[in-house]
Amino acid sequence: MTIRLFNTLSGRVEELSPADGRTIRMYACGPTVYDYGHIGNFRTFLQVDVLRRFLRLEGLETRHVMNITDVDDKIIRNAAGAGVPIGEYTPRYEQAFFEDLDALEVEKPEIVARATEHIPSMVALIERLAAQDSAYRTEDGSWYFRIASFPAYGKLSKKDFSGIADGARVDVDEYDKDSARDFALWKSPKDGEYHWQTELGPGRPGWHIECSAMATEYLGDDFDLHAGGEDLMFPHHENEIAQSESASHTTFARHWFHVRFLLVEGRKMSKSEGNFYTLRDLLLKGYKASAIRMLLISVPYRQQLNFTFEGLAAETGAIDRLRTFHQRVRTAPTVSALNAELASETARAGEVFCEALANDLNTAEARAAVFDLVRAGNAAMDAGTLGAENVPQILEVLSRFDRVFAVLEDHDVEWTRFALDWAEREGRLDQVAPELLAQRDLSDEKIQALLDKRTQAKRTRNFALADQIRNELAEKGIVIEDWKDGVRWKRK
Ligand code: AMP
Ligand code: ZN
Repeated sequence: MTIRLFNTLSGRVEELSPADGRTIRMYACGPTVYDYGHIGNFRTFLQVDVLRRFLRLEGLETRHVMNITDVDDKIIRNAAGAGVPIGEYTPRYEQAFFEDLDALEVEKPEIVARATEHIPSMVALIERLAAQDSAYRTEDGSWYFRIASFPAYGKLSKKDFSGIADGARVDVDEYDKDSARDFALWKSPKDGEYHWQTELGPGRPGWHIECSAMATEYLGDDFDLHAGGEDLMFPHHENEIAQSESASHTTFARHWFHVRFLLVEGRKMSKSEGNFYTLRDLLLKGYKASAIRMLLISVPYRQQLNFTFEGLAAETGAIDRLRTFHQRVRTAPTVSALNAELASETARAGEVFCEALANDLNTAEARAAVFDLVRAGNAAMDAGTLGAENVPQILEVLSRFDRVFAVLEDHDVEWTRFALDWAEREGRLDQVAPELLAQRDLSDEKIQALLDKRTQAKRTRNFALADQIRNELAEKGIVIEDWKDGVRWKRK
């Protein structure tokens, strides 16, 4: 199937196909590991995950590179504040980032590249730029990119920089949105700051050169797709293009994929606005990891998404419906005759699902097709007209859906446990919702002891005590089922 995707560079929805006919070579800007990520960050990583999962569902391979920015101004500042070297400061946040990706069922890229382990390629790239006058050294020993040497500057963000002043500079990674300035490639250390000794002199890399150097190292001078959040379009990605194309004289990434923001009350979720939630914040409030994934992927990547708790609660319900349906289809009584109408609805759901994703990754339409199938399937089961042959057809569509959406398998209890253990280690139990705390206090052994007591009570016909124990457990989120062979229980 032809996969069509909006390309920021051309400004059009275009076919995405691998240059080598088989493997999509892609680069996605990764996190700066100075703190826990917020769910706005994860919206971007999740939409990239949906893209890569869909490409693989369509039979393509991926060579997906993600960088870890483990050196920058904030990291250097925070590490110095904590009195540790940056190499001791960042690993816990890097680990937390990958744990969060696991909880959100985000597949790991084929290649994860840490900036601090690629300093030589960055130095080599800057030297190449300097050799052709695209980079210059300032009096303090820093190196800058000369924007005036790259006439195509602005082609991604569609900004007109024709009047830029040669030599106007910024030495910070963040600069004002509408002016182009020569930007730092290599920053000389200020009084005793962390630095590397290199051919360029002492210093550390700018953020933009990291991505250019690592993308090229693993993907070559030109590759299929480059991704990131919409805020990275300018200046970060514009600068990556300027550096890489000046050095290679060829097109850097052919296709640019930008994910629109997650908002809170109309404003970008961000650390600086203070309007953010981390994944762990939400798990500790009792929301499920799967519902968070579902919420963040269900609105297509080219629309901004406004975060609300009502929205999140609705996704919890949606996932329950899907999982219940999945279970029901596998266990419902069937009749021998094929339900032809259901069979055609099933086929249609499968087709619409893939067509919607192939059409600029329309996740909303793709999931709607599957919910149509849930409705039709439930109606057939209610009427007792589910044919034995319908079952594998429906399961095939659900499995196709889940190769991209990844919400049917239930790992929610595990991740909530994980967050609770983390909160305990970090002394953050005050942030935990009371219902969760009550559940946590109840170990498996305690539950079993209460259940034994209840069984004993029933044997001695003390039904009041048996009911009391059941209610007590129910309040703590433990559901009991009495079966012929004994009592089973699960955490809600
Ligand atoms: P950072 O760790 O700040 O470099 O950000 C990691 C990724 O998250 C980048 O691709 C950003 O563009 C993206 N990002 C940051 N804030 C948001 C947001 N509110 N919504 C969506 N993506 C975001
Ligand atoms: Zn980048």
